[in-house]
Amino acid sequence: MMYTCQYCERDAESAHSITVYEEDGREKEFQVLCGSCYQEWLLSLKG
Ligand SMILES: [Zn+2]
Repeated sequence: MMYTCQYCERDAESAHSITVYEEDGREKEFQVLCGSCYQEWLLSLKG
């Protein structure tokens, strides 16, 4: 199954699903990211 990364819009064979939270902690949305975008997202969490 192929996924489309919602960040870079490329097709990815393995996808990482993440949960984006509002500032008050509520769930905002789910996103599917490819491997490289997922790594960037992890880094962004660390500030
Ligand atoms: Zn991507």
